[in-house]
Amino acid sequence: MRPDKRIRITREPQRGRYDRETIDAILDEALLCHLGFEVDGQPYVIPTLHARVGDTVYVHGSAASRMLRQLAGGVRVCLTVTLFDGLVLARSVFNHSVNYRSVVLLGAARLVPDEEKLAALHALTEQLAPGRWEEARQPTAKELKATWILALPIEEASAKVRSGPPEDDPEDEHLPVWAGVVPVHLTAESSDYDWRRVHAGRVVGPKPPTTIES
Ligand SMILES: Cc1cc2nc3c(=O)[nH]c(=O)nc-3n(C[C@H](O)[C@H](O)[C@H](O)COP(=O)(O)OP(=O)(O)OC[C@H]3O[C@@H](n4cnc5c(N)ncnc54)[C@H](O)[C@@H]3O)c2cc1C
Repeated sequence: MRPDKRIRITREPQRGRYDRETIDAILDEALLCHLGFEVDGQPYVIPTLHARVGDTVYVHGSAASRMLRQLAGGVRVCLTVTLFDGLVLARSVFNHSVNYRSVVLLGAARLVPDEEKLAALHALTEQLAPGRWEEARQPTAKELKATWILALPIEEASAKVRSGPPEDDPEDEHLPVWAGVVPVHLTAESSDYDWRRVHAGRVVGPKPPTTIES
């Protein structure tokens, strides 16, 4: 199916992906996103955390956050997620590039009601470190009240993926210039906390509780 014009990638269209499997995998792997929106004619792009549950992406913050207050009013938003996979060093400056997987999600966010907050917070916590929800103290009613959560439906979204070696021009192949891919990964430093262990268990995180304890 041809994607709608608003989410159709025009440059290097062969890198475009519109299937939910690809979009969800990128959203789930990324630890942060950027939210773009406009207030009084001024565009803002704010970095923040996110988590996906089914067809919904959640973002959260203080009830005093301007970003959340604006977006809760139904302002249209563009959520972007980027996984940076490698430096693509070509023999010519012109053909330098990067390997990446990215998602652009368009829509209007809704403010999450109290009964949905725990599930959203659970997802946001588990996105950082699977298993952490069970390890840490659960939120109190006061903490939940101070937290606003927005939900953005995954309805209008695109992904773009670049992988593989540099694409040098044939006439540059003989140049004595190193060319290839330098892999880039976001890694957690070793610490007292075994982040690698919980990260490996991401897919089997515990289920969220359904009641709020004060
Ligand atoms: C880490 C990184 C570095 C990049 N560096 C460059 C660079 O230096 N120069 C450059 O021109 N481009 C770069 N890109 C690609 C850039 O994101 C755009 O895809 C590109 O500018 C072409 O956009 P377009 O004109 O096709 O689409 P636009 O007309 O700008 O966008 C139309 C629609 O296409 C979709 N779309 C566009 N780009 C993406 C994307 N990356 N991921 C998911 N959906 C997308 C969106 O739904 C958007 O609404 C980079 C991407 C990444 C992730």
